[in-house]
Formats: sequence, C-alpha cells, structure tokens
Amino acid sequence: MTGAMPQGEPCIFCDIAAERAPAHRIYDDRSTAAFLDIFPFTRGHLLVIPKRHGARLTDLPFDDQVALVRTLDEVCRRVERLTPDYNVALNAGANAGQIVFHVHFHVIPRYGESNPFLGPGRARLRDDDARELVRELSRA
Ligand code: AMP
Ligand code: ZN
Repeated sequence: MTGAMPQGEPCIFCDIAAERAPAHRIYDDRSTAAFLDIFPFTRGHLLVIPKRHGARLTDLPFDDQVALVRTLDEVCRRVERLTPDYNVALNAGANAGQIVFHVHFHVIPRYGESNPFLGPGRARLRDDDARELVRELSRA
C-alpha cells in the first residue's frame, strides 16, 4: 500500500515510503517502513511509519495500526542489538512536538547518557555511521 497525501500536498514521509526521497532504511514491507532519523537524539534513533498517509495514529484504519505496531515490535527487537534500553515515542499534534504530520513512532536507543531531549541541538546523522547502523539493523 503506497501512501498518498490527499490533495497532492507534499509529505516527506510519503515520499520516503514510496522511495521518491532517500532514507537510511532498515525495514520495509507492504504497509510499513523504518529508517534512521536524520537528526538523531542518540545513535540508532529510528522512525517507524505506515505507508498510508495519516497525520496521527487515530487517522489510520485498524489494519494499518496493527501493521505499524507489528513493525514497531520488530524494530525494537533489532534495536536491542545495540542496547536493551530505549524510548518509544509518538508525538501527536504541534503542541506535543509533532513536526512531520505523517504518523511515526520514534525508537530512541539509550546508553546511559544524560537526558538527550534537553540537550543542545542535534547533529545531523553521519553517512558512515548510518551505513554501519543499516548493516547492523537491516538483518532480520
Ligand atoms: P516529530 O517531532 O515527532 O514530528 O519528529 C519528526 C522527526 O523526523 C524528527 O526527529 C526529524 O529529525 C525527522 N526527520 C525529518 N525529515 C526526515 C528525513 N527526511 N529523514 C529522516 N528523518 C527525518
Ligand atoms: Zn505522508
């Protein structure tokens, strides 16, 4: 199922879902995908998306919600190769910090650093580290 934004408005995550935009993808199936966040809070920060466009979880048909959580589970299992500790987050609405209005779960590995959400600006993902993470996390 390829997501398409109603009214043809641009959506970066629809573009990634349809492979019109680049991403460091670690997982892909008919209705969901997962890829590295380009401004990671911590090493291995991932986003899990449905291919169907919806701004928030409650906009999605039930089957897509189920598929999304199934992929979230798979991604969490893979993140456990890096560390057993991680945050799973979903920001719904601008007041909750949502910037990209295509629903996504964040999976944010934690390594014992001080609170990464309060720190200074996030550095852009480095290509060499992204390649290494994709190698480690793409494996089923
Ligand atoms: P949110 O605040 O929950 O909407 O988070 C959106 C996330 O998407 C942020 O952590 C961004 O760094 C990330 N992001 C935005 N554009 C891209 C992109 N093209 N590829 C990967 N991650 C992105
Ligand atoms: Zn979208």
